[in-house]
Amino acid sequence: MSETSGEHIHITLIRLALDEARKCEPTPTAFCVGCVLVLPSDSGPGVILARGFSRELPGNTHAEANALTKAHQLSQSQLHDLLPSVPAQMHIDVDDILTRADIYTTMEPCSVRTSGLAPCADAIIAAKLRRCYIGVGEPDDFVNCEGARKLVDAGIEVHWIKGLEEDCLRQARRGHDRSQVEFHMIDLLYNLLTILFNRQTNRS
Ligand SMILES: [Zn+2]
Repeated sequence: MSETSGEHIHITLIRLALDEARKCEPTPTAFCVGCVLVLPSDSGPGVILARGFSRELPGNTHAEANALTKAHQLSQSQLHDLLPSVPAQMHIDVDDILTRADIYTTMEPCSVRTSGLAPCADAIIAAKLRRCYIGVGEPDDFVNCEGARKLVDAGIEVHWIKGLEEDCLRQARRGHDRSQVEFHMIDLLYNLLTILFNRQTNRS
């Protein structure tokens, strides 16, 4: 697999994580994050084991923890459907699969939870995932996040995806305050006016 197609796969997977982030119910007190858990393959995009988003599962749950919970809930027949190369009679150990899996998340996994729930970085470390691909660092809107450092300290590879930071942040902060919504409306209006102005200039 060439480096370029590898890069392309990472971008595609972060975009899938962004699709998950869009499913979040916005709240002013937490981020909207999405993620996908992937078993990578040398010959293609790999197998998506589970997806997750903030508050998807009951309780004040986070995307990464939810994807891991969902992966653990996969039945043997679901795992065999995902991994058709494994002989049908063979038991698939999801814990073992996870040690070879990568997680793609729109935002740096949390290292502190004010709610007292276990942080996602700890859940990723406990699952012994191989690599963590991140769309954007967690801004210090709520707490100072040290998730990426915590993962690296635990021996998990951390990769920062370039180019989708703004999209990831925009999704994350959905519903946070009105001024931000207003800012985006003004931004949108400005872009629209620029397009109209350019059209007019081109005509004359
Ligand atoms: Zn989290």
